Amino acid sequence: MPTSRAPAAAPKPPPGGEKAAAAPAAKSAPARALERLGLVRDIDLALHLPLRYEDETRLVPIAALRDGDSGQVEGTVRACELQARPRRQLVVRVADASGELALRFVHFHAGQQRQFEPGRRLRVRGEVRGGFLGREMVHPTVRAVEPGAPLPQALTPVYPTTAQLPQAYLRKAVASGLARASLAELVPAALLPPGLPTLAESLRLLHHPPPGAPLAALEDRTHPAWQRLKFDELLAQQLAQAEAQAERARLRAPALAPRPGALHDRLHAALPFALTAAQRRVVAEIERDLARGRPMHRLLQGDVGAGKTVVAALAAARAIDAGWQCALMAPTEILAEQHFRKLVGWLEPLGVQVAWLTGSRKGRARQAMLEALASGAAGLAVGTHAVIQREVEFARLGLAVVDEQHRFGVAQRLALRAKLAAQRLEPHLLMMSATPIPRTLAMTYFADLDVSTIDELPPGRTPVVTRLFADDKRAQVIERIRDELARGPGRQVYWVCPLIEEAEEGAGDRRRRGAALEEDRGVGAGDHGDVGGSRGRGRPLELQNATDTHAELSAALPGTMVGLLHGRMPAGEKAAVMSLFTGGTMRVLVATTVIEVGVDVPAASLMVIEHAERFGLAQLHQLRGRVGRGTEASVCVLLYSGPLSPPARERLRAMAETTDGFEIARRDLAIRGPGEFMGARQSGEALLRFADLEQDAALLEAARDLAPRLLREHPAAASAQVQRWLGAGAEFLKA
Ligand code: ADP
Ligand code: MG
Repeated sequence: MPTSRAPAAAPKPPPGGEKAAAAPAAKSAPARALERLGLVRDIDLALHLPLRYEDETRLVPIAALRDGDSGQVEGTVRACELQARPRRQLVVRVADASGELALRFVHFHAGQQRQFEPGRRLRVRGEVRGGFLGREMVHPTVRAVEPGAPLPQALTPVYPTTAQLPQAYLRKAVASGLARASLAELVPAALLPPGLPTLAESLRLLHHPPPGAPLAALEDRTHPAWQRLKFDELLAQQLAQAEAQAERARLRAPALAPRPGALHDRLHAALPFALTAAQRRVVAEIERDLARGRPMHRLLQGDVGAGKTVVAALAAARAIDAGWQCALMAPTEILAEQHFRKLVGWLEPLGVQVAWLTGSRKGRARQAMLEALASGAAGLAVGTHAVIQREVEFARLGLAVVDEQHRFGVAQRLALRAKLAAQRLEPHLLMMSATPIPRTLAMTYFADLDVSTIDELPPGRTPVVTRLFADDKRAQVIERIRDELARGPGRQVYWVCPLIEEAEEGAGDRRRRGAALEEDRGVGAGDHGDVGGSRGRGRPLELQNATDTHAELSAALPGTMVGLLHGRMPAGEKAAVMSLFTGGTMRVLVATTVIEVGVDVPAASLMVIEHAERFGLAQLHQLRGRVGRGTEASVCVLLYSGPLSPPARERLRAMAETTDGFEIARRDLAIRGPGEFMGARQSGEALLRFADLEQDAALLEAARDLAPRLLREHPAAASAQVQRWLGAGAEFLKA
């Protein structure tokens, strides 16, 4: 076992040392593959841990192997023959004192044949089958050895790797990285959770477990050595978060203090409704932050329909009152437009110019918007990610509001901060989400975030009634639409079709996961393409579904205007359809999930979701939130086609049983696990490699408790810990 400095391994190990060495002229393919995996420093290699192990420490007599056993034997080659039938293959006969075994290779090369000269001694590992030739192994792992060669003293690690990086090369690179890396204990032992081995002990054990080590605990990652690794990782993550927080506390932001009788108060007075108590509370929390000269970094969470937009509008008014500008960014063009209309309706009568920026807005109109923002004439910019593009300059950006923030990736949040950091002051940041963040996530990826919660819906809402219908009841559902429309002019209907990826068609399981995956990918995928740019796959089927349904409903509902809305339509057309629907002329709207977030048409009282089993729970809840916004009692029909996978069944049951967004989030978490929650996997990617937020919640708590103390009492150790684990990746945590 490598306990001290080992000589460099045969393949040139990656540029060593804690700092990256000057790049040598030409790197081998495996060396480049190492780099792509992020295995650059010795410590990176040392922290590259095995997926599993192979036991080469023991030999089994051939005769002791039963059909289906895996094991290692050692024997002498008796014969090696090339067979032509039933297909070309190499058959090698090996014997030990107890019996004989056939090795069968369908893929082989000439060199291998030489390895199998009769008389050679081989160590052979694989799974035994009782073939018609007697015992045999197909494509076993084979190694030529000298008679009496000692067995390895440790289990053989199998590392996660890629095609260009052979396991043997990686093993040597990791072994030499492990031997050279500095693994000194950084945290005083007394501060660590009790019972954990040192990092060096843990890593040596995990890379090279001795024979008889508890394999199950190693492979399911519950062994104390794993606990230590996970704890260290979580601690590094908590420290990086705390550093980011401390750094933010040192930054300055414009102090947006209240001015009596100004825009803010006039907007407040002009609203057509009174704020709920919960809205008043969060407005106060936000305004307290804004008045301080430090950048706000606050998440506003509130169930669908809780009324987050007006809170954002009041914050924007505060910024404008103080002579600053506000930018509001939404993940889709449709949602951005909704915000735009609403904010224009509230603010323009009060003399505020509102600029509208999306990817599809070009030419003179766009130029005029850009000028209004650069000169400061426009107090507010509303749009998609177009708001954070390089050409967009603000005269005095003081507040950025990001709606449905979890749909934006870390990269976009970084871009936003970078734009704003161009001024000497940092802007305030308000993020809004209908999906509450689970506790463990709040403690990790979102630790640097203050949270305000609207836990009350505006008065007069009747909870939406949700009904499940099997797909063969479709005619009945259409009948229901007819009834709904007949009840009066103030009734409108959404019919939502799922996105279907072409590649998923026909593959039962993946198909069912389709929508959930769609959602997990967050911004940039599917119909949310407004943010992430275009994507070629999956369109034809998606449209097929929606256009078929559109034709079907148009035929079934003569005399009713039925519209169609999908992500592929030009923005102008989308806007035209939305305005017909918002205005009430169009009474039925068939749409893909473009309407998922934030669309607000209070007269919509019936929603049908087709293939509801394909949607994620959070997404279903978002969709359902499009109805029940007026005073009419609303209904949501979930059409599903079986057979349902158990998670799909759970999702539909949750939808039928509750309309409470927090309860939905709790169940979603239980079904999916926090790692996949809200696309956090994407944003937290590569940040937590080992720890599992659900399983390791206790370690997370311990790490969170230790982090501030370590920063206070052992700042050098704290920063070494972050460097060791995150290296260059630490920057991402500040997003
Ligand atoms: P969300 O929190 O989902 O973004 P919105 O801001 O779109 O919700 O608000 C949903 C609807 O409720 C909008 O039509 C909005 O104008 C209305 N609304 C917001 N606050 C109140 C209130 N206090 N009383 C009545 N209606 C309200
Ligand atoms: Mg909203």
